[in-house]
Amino acid sequence: MPIFEYQCRHCGHRFEQLVLPKSPAAECPACGKSDLEQMISLVSVSSEQTRKANLAAAKKRGAAIQKERAHEEHKALHAHYDEH
Ligand SMILES: [Zn+2]
Repeated sequence: MPIFEYQCRHCGHRFEQLVLPKSPAAECPACGKSDLEQMISLVSVSSEQTRKANLAAAKKRGAAIQKERAHEEHKALHAHYDEH
């Protein structure tokens, strides 16, 4: 869905608004004027996607580390028993 970021030329308020083809012209929620400058919205969308991708990657890494740790503990357990 297209979310556009606007900056109000009247009061400088910045806000994001979902814009549908049938949406009326966006208005500043702070002052109600429709004298808006449209910012580049793709930046916030792509950074959100990047953040989610990073989070997923971090989770994967964490799971891999835990698996490895469990494996090491298992090995240590065996080593312990093998000694006796
Ligand atoms: Zn405004």
